[in-house]
Amino acid sequence: MLIERVVAPPLDNNAYLVVDEKSHQAAIVDPALAGEELLGLSEKHGAKVLFILNTHGHPDPTADDDSIRKATGAKIAIFEIDAPRLEKNARETRWFLPAPPPPVKPDLLLKEGSEIRVGDLVFRTMHTPGHTEGSACFHIPSEDALFTGDTLYAGSHGRTDTFGGSPAKMVFSLRRIRELPDRTRVYPGHGPETALEKESWLLDLMYPML
Ligand SMILES: [Zn+2]
Repeated sequence: MLIERVVAPPLDNNAYLVVDEKSHQAAIVDPALAGEELLGLSEKHGAKVLFILNTHGHPDPTADDDSIRKATGAKIAIFEIDAPRLEKNARETRWFLPAPPPPVKPDLLLKEGSEIRVGDLVFRTMHTPGHTEGSACFHIPSEDALFTGDTLYAGSHGRTDTFGGSPAKMVFSLRRIRELPDRTRVYPGHGPETALEKESWLLDLMYPML
């Protein structure tokens, strides 16, 4: 497995290209506005992008969903509860985007345990609400890799005080994440990557959490 991370607008988002080197198949996790750069990287690696995996439906990580689908034919996937946000984003102007994104109809509605295959890599969906009601993490068990979006960052977690957020659900979700193996590498939606064994605060979660 090869992972390329691009730190991209609109909000210093981490956008990831994940390539299965054997099959040259790839997935993009949370493209943000890194579409052109991600497509350049996939070309450089001779990879075909099959899926655009969204950890949640906020307008910043999903901003280039539509343009990448148009360029590659990749399928857009999102946890089913957050799917309506992709249409809703098109109706709202955000200070951090030059224009509202086009409305996006996802191709795949994910549920707890849904598996996305990219060559030999299997991305397993974990429903981890708290940041939004339909936030999800993508776990690749064979590689001990976890894409956490705005649920878990190095040293902290995503905010829970915007529409659809819930501190109680965030605690529940972080506890579930901590049950994965210690060695699990964490690829968050913002900031540096980390590993579960480094995030000792996850062992001491209390509710309420602010
Ligand atoms: Zn978010």
